[in-house]
Amino acid sequence: GADTWRHVAFIEKPRGDGGLRWLMSSDVCKHCAPAACLDVCPTGALFRTEFGTVVVQEDICNGCGMCQPACPFGVIDISMTDGKAHKCTLCYDRLTDGLEPACAKACPTDSIQFGNVADLRERASKRVDDLQAKGLDAYVYGTEETGGTGGIGQLGASFILLNEPSTYNLPEAPSLPQERTLPGFLAVAVAAAALSVATVLSLRRD
Ligand code: SF4
Ligand code: SF4
Repeated sequence: GADTWRHVAFIEKPRGDGGLRWLMSSDVCKHCAPAACLDVCPTGALFRTEFGTVVVQEDICNGCGMCQPACPFGVIDISMTDGKAHKCTLCYDRLTDGLEPACAKACPTDSIQFGNVADLRERASKRVDDLQAKGLDAYVYGTEETGGTGGIGQLGASFILLNEPSTYNLPEAPSLPQERTLPGFLAVAVAAAALSVATVLSLRRD
């Protein structure tokens, strides 16, 4: 959302034995590469920083809202306060000062970790191995190997999940806007072609 850049979910799921299972997740902008929000922005308000993150420049944003439906994860949002797009910047100001993002700094359990994407993925993979050894159905969401990237090349944030993505309100197969609009475009093209043929036939009959 425009005002809440990190969403912490606390999910209760019924267990087979009649008890309840607790699942937690902390969701955030994935700083995708390519980023659909950035690609559709007509003003250049969204840009990719020197850290590979995606940031909105509020002084350039005109509030057109095109980025909002483009995001496969429902992250970027238009503020009701200033009418402009807002989302997590991965603490661009802190990164510029050589500091880690505030969420990673503040997390007392180190559940949120910051670093090089390749290193983090290796760490996540080891953590998944540990969890699986304990009998949990753990996997990493947001890598090419394990799913969650859809048509997006790379996500800058990955998540260790213990249930299907939809449990955490994450799409099973996120897609770029052009993939979502292509079927509709093709349907219109086919309908237009059929209409042309029908018109030609009717003209010939006349
Ligand atoms: S998650 Fe959405 S808002 Fe964040 S970079 Fe990707 S497309 Fe943009
Ligand atoms: S709302 Fe702002 S950031 Fe989003 S597409 Fe329009 S100008 Fe770009």
